[in-house]
Amino acid sequence: MTTYPDLQLYIAGEWRKSAETQPVLNPADESVIGMLPIARRADLDDALAAAVEGHKIWSRTSPAKRAAVMLKAAALMRERTEEIAYAITLEHGKPITQARQEVQRGCEFFEWDAAEAVRTYGRVIPSESDIRYIVLHQPIGPVAAFSPWNFPMSQPARKIGGALAAGCSIILKASEETPAGAIHIARAFHDAGLPAGVLNLVFGMPSEISEYLIPQTPIRLVAFTGSTAVGKHLTGIAARHMKPVLMELGGHAPVIVCDDVDPIAAALTSVARKARNAGQVCTSPTRFFVHEKLYAAFTEAFAERARTIKVGNGLDPAIQMGPVANHRRIDALEALVSDARAKGARVLAGGERVGNRGYFFPLTVLSDLPDDAQAMHVEPFGPLALINPVRSLDDAIEQANSLPFGLAAYAFTHSARNAHQLSECIEAGNISINTLEASVAETPFGGVKESGYGREGGAEGLSHYTVVKNVSHRMTL
Ligand code: NAD
Repeated sequence: MTTYPDLQLYIAGEWRKSAETQPVLNPADESVIGMLPIARRADLDDALAAAVEGHKIWSRTSPAKRAAVMLKAAALMRERTEEIAYAITLEHGKPITQARQEVQRGCEFFEWDAAEAVRTYGRVIPSESDIRYIVLHQPIGPVAAFSPWNFPMSQPARKIGGALAAGCSIILKASEETPAGAIHIARAFHDAGLPAGVLNLVFGMPSEISEYLIPQTPIRLVAFTGSTAVGKHLTGIAARHMKPVLMELGGHAPVIVCDDVDPIAAALTSVARKARNAGQVCTSPTRFFVHEKLYAAFTEAFAERARTIKVGNGLDPAIQMGPVANHRRIDALEALVSDARAKGARVLAGGERVGNRGYFFPLTVLSDLPDDAQAMHVEPFGPLALINPVRSLDDAIEQANSLPFGLAAYAFTHSARNAHQLSECIEAGNISINTLEASVAETPFGGVKESGYGREGGAEGLSHYTVVKNVSHRMTL
């Protein structure tokens, strides 16, 4: 079935509409595909009350039962892959094959977190014989979470999966521009028998919702994925109310191409990954630092392949890259390209918006960028690749580490010595060598420096959703 879902809020186990709505656009043709209800203050109060009740039930539900509900919901989402993928492509623009992959990836996050639910082990601390010290990892409490527009299904899955596996209730404000992924998740959990109030889904003006929800007493954790600027703002609000945060923020991923690899193979792998999601990924490979020996061959192969990437409506199976998700990305990309061009960079592919209906921007390759080109500092969050030569690995590492970001980093090398140096010296939460995959469900993902705080996924993923309690129990009075 391929229909765009009826957009509603999900509060206390029920779907509800709102008198106030805003349109959701298809970025491929700018048509209106749905009207999104906007939560009013009363809806947020209902969501808070529901999350308190939901938390009472869910935190006392055994981890095995929580896992069973999560696995059932994930199985339903797998069954509904076509319907969910269609909605994602319609509202976000990405090619339908990538939308299907996103649904699978979202399910993998739920399945991994469900399996981890039964492993939030505490410990017993050795002590005198008549006293016992027991460390418990308890659910932290209701979570206020905010997910962005670039992955409509797998971004909400990260937050909901962590919270639910740990035994927490959650109020998620998903993206107003791409709401369908989160709506499908809520639908699957509803159908899987999740108790009312455990998962609540709202939409509205992001700043109004975050500024209202975060200070509320029942909220015990703030989880956000988005830009560093907004992450700092929300962390400030949370700090004023002494709430912990989980922040997955911006990146500007470096790719170091060492002198011992095939430059053509490295270039072709890189183009395919750069085109994924039209580059709108916080881990997208962006700053390519290529050893000067390979620079000409790598750059030429990269640009040649980039020019062949077919851009168009993501529902067309022949398309390799869809539109960018909103007009803000077009404006940002045009500004970065024109600034770099004015400062002497070479434009080897793309560089200008395609047509004037739908937000199409080609895979764009810039080389020989001066240090003061804005693109070398500002995360492009779009299909923009920046290629510069480096003299040595030390030079490359220094440049890679020169920004305040530290989310994902990549390198191509066959040398164990290079790989060791990269693993030790790159300032990032994730470094991938000879692969441009930055994270999978079973590995911890997150940033250092201004790329954020905390980890999602892996064995570390549930730690932010739990608090440690020590129980000291003397056997006699
Ligand atoms: P933006 O900074 O306005 O918003 C980023 C995200 O935060 C959006 O999802 C938005 O709805 C949300 N947001 C904004 N203000 C908020 C607030 N006060 N309270 C709660 N949520 C709020 O920028 P944008 O144009 O939507 O996105 C572009 C930038 O965002 C990119 O340059 C990129 O750095 C970042 N981004 C990062 C990710 C990621 O996966 N880390 C995803 C999407 C966007």
